[in-house]
Amino acid sequence: MTNDQPNSWEARADATAFYGFTDLPSVHERGAVVLTHGDGPYVVDVNGRRYLDANSGLWNMVAGFSHKGMAAAAKAQYDRFPGYHAFFGRMSDQTVMLSEKLVEMSPFERGKVFYTNSGSEANDTMVKMLWFLSDAEGKPKRRKFISRVNAYHGVTVASASLTGKPYNSVFGLPLPGFLHLTCPHYWREGKPGETEEQFTRRMAKELEDMIEREGADTIAGFFAEPVMGAGGVIPPSKGYFQAITPILRKHGIPLIADEVICGFGRTGGMWGCETYDFMPDAIISSKNLTAGYFPMGAVILGPDLADRLQAAVEEIEEFPHGFTASGHPVGSAIALKAIDLIVNGDDESGPLIENVRAMTPKFEAGLARLAEHKHIGEWRGKGLMGALEAVKDKDSKTPWDGSLSVSERIANTCTDHGLICRPLGQSIVLCPPFIINDAQMDEMFDKLEKALNSVFAELT
Ligand SMILES: *Cc1c(COP(=O)(O)O)cnc(C)c1O
Repeated sequence: MTNDQPNSWEARADATAFYGFTDLPSVHERGAVVLTHGDGPYVVDVNGRRYLDANSGLWNMVAGFSHKGMAAAAKAQYDRFPGYHAFFGRMSDQTVMLSEKLVEMSPFERGKVFYTNSGSEANDTMVKMLWFLSDAEGKPKRRKFISRVNAYHGVTVASASLTGKPYNSVFGLPLPGFLHLTCPHYWREGKPGETEEQFTRRMAKELEDMIEREGADTIAGFFAEPVMGAGGVIPPSKGYFQAITPILRKHGIPLIADEVICGFGRTGGMWGCETYDFMPDAIISSKNLTAGYFPMGAVILGPDLADRLQAAVEEIEEFPHGFTASGHPVGSAIALKAIDLIVNGDDESGPLIENVRAMTPKFEAGLARLAEHKHIGEWRGKGLMGALEAVKDKDSKTPWDGSLSVSERIANTCTDHGLICRPLGQSIVLCPPFIINDAQMDEMFDKLEKALNSVFAELT
């Protein structure tokens, strides 16, 4: 550990933290990074070291870590009405305004909104809504869900089952009836000689075969992130959503767009489904919804699901589901401010989505330049989310031996240089705050390039 004094922040963190999603060898060797505050896209640790956080915290701190307008909106609402729920037909005025805003911003002409505290809970809520609908519509066998390998939908029991990551086997998950299709990553999953169009057709055929095999009347829904985030930033293959949407429609299977990362501008469009031009039946939102200034998630139902669920719930007179802090007034006020900032900007920053669009060409050029390295197999991304995938051999796309922890080494070296970026598989993920400027983007790529060069030099 960098500081092994028993009363150091690192030691104190170690003594009481049961770390989640943390590479333990790295943290044992280096100690935890304990942070005190932020400054724009930078965070500062207890030793006064500054880090450019190229991951926006966990994708969500899109307005950076010191936005005065965001903090002021929170403070004003704390002074006005600091907490309430959304049970028993009661809710705050902020919650009503947020629901109106979310429906207005959604691709749906009308819809309904249900609030949670996180993206995982929003996906679990959607699962329960669809199970409820199956029962209410006299289709009790309609219980299965389809998602994709590498998908990330969260960590609660149902959302972890939707997630297509091997690590969930340590919990005995997924639950039965949660099915996973091939990840639509053409560079990695395409067969020799297969064009991207042929690959997309094969992905669609795989979906059709799965529906046939399982029986369309057993499937309650299909979940997909427009661009897979925690799977390593994987945009869909060309025409993917155009190929699968008609198959789902034909079989009456709802398409749920998990927009927890893509939503509110990350891909350059307001929603990932807008960027990729498809129409889901419902949207799952969280992360950017409050720019990370409050834990909040939302299920936004499009007209068909809203009507069917409403009709079903009228029968039993009550939907027995909700969280104590669902539709929290402070979270709602913060979300209204975050959305306003993303769309319209304020005195402190211009419209954040405009900056995403303005910075995207430079971001893509930076990724493309680093991808010229002989140990970078691919760069990929959309808007301000991107990844560089490390390979041992570029032509054969051979990965490094897992025991070398290549991406962790790169990320740790970046941390030493004052840059936070995330290792995912053998990729390095970048998703800077929407407020990032030219100089900060140069700093990000310069520091990453130095780290790549030094780690690859060590390995070869
Ligand atoms: C982060 C994430 C979730 C889970 O959200 P939590 O707030 O961490 O529960 C779900 N879906 C996607 C696409 C995510 O990126």
